[in-house]
Amino acid sequence: MVLTQLPRFHYLFFKNPPTSFNFFPKPRLPIIKPTSPTLFSTVSTTEPIPITDFSLPEEPKLEISLDKLFVPPETEVACDDPVLSTRILKGSNIVLSKYARDAQVIQAEFVKSSVRTEDCPSDGLPEFALVGRSNVGKSSLLNSLVRRKRLALTSKKPGKTQCINHFRINDSWYLVDLPGYGYASAPQELRTDWGKFTRDYFINRSMLVSVFLLIDASIPVKKIDLEYASWLGQNQIPMTLIFTKCDKRKKKKNGGKRPEENISDFQELICGFFQSVPPWIMTSSVTNQGRDEILLHMAQLRNYWLKH
Ligand code: GDP
Repeated sequence: MVLTQLPRFHYLFFKNPPTSFNFFPKPRLPIIKPTSPTLFSTVSTTEPIPITDFSLPEEPKLEISLDKLFVPPETEVACDDPVLSTRILKGSNIVLSKYARDAQVIQAEFVKSSVRTEDCPSDGLPEFALVGRSNVGKSSLLNSLVRRKRLALTSKKPGKTQCINHFRINDSWYLVDLPGYGYASAPQELRTDWGKFTRDYFINRSMLVSVFLLIDASIPVKKIDLEYASWLGQNQIPMTLIFTKCDKRKKKKNGGKRPEENISDFQELICGFFQSVPPWIMTSSVTNQGRDEILLHMAQLRNYWLKH
């Protein structure tokens, strides 16, 4: 593999970290070797690796320390593991587990729109909820995940934008499109109170494996996104942060920060609300960055959920 395939930051591991990290207190298992090397970053040392990218001289370097990794259940991470960095999903802080399999989307279909949790499908299949501020790129991401240009349009039809929309994947799990929040130009009385509308779903939906909270990485941190993330953290709802629009690399006049800096700011601001570091992935629906990584991460969460 070549250095150009690396995510645009380098991993820095602490010199004297604890010997292992476990996200959940599970029995230790032998270290799992990667099964799909092409999807992994290529760092293979525990020392900081300076990466020179001549095409992007201003590129800031983010650092991920061992204690900032998301380690799935039943997965052991040792600081002296020479292949640890090859087990981290590209452009994320997620370590792969033995449950990361069957990630491909073969079939996707819209099933139903519900206005109450009780009306959602009752076949017991695991599900992942996509949620984010209006315009964050949720529909684009959903279409990219299922490789269908217009599937998510279903959720944008009149009457469905404020619903819980279920899409069945491979007849075995669901992607759930939740209403966008914080739509700035809507009159106050029409704006969704996301807390009232979705709180019940988040708390009572027993098939919900994880919320995927979409955050626009091309703009500075928004208060409403922080509030949403902190509410999920405080209520211990499993959450993965999906940073969208990471292809937008040019400095903006307003804020002037690059995606990596916005991502880093966001994480710093929410860390106090979480007992352990939430998983996060950088994505772009323009370049399909992060698409395979999201699907692998969903697969490992789902397969673990199904087994327990
Ligand atoms: P939604 O309201 O959250 O469903 O957002 P959409 O998927 O409709 O996207 C909102 C706008 O952002 C559209 O103009 C998209 O073309 C654009 N967009 C969505 N994802 C990306 C992305 O990854 N990169 C860039 N550059 N633009 C995006």
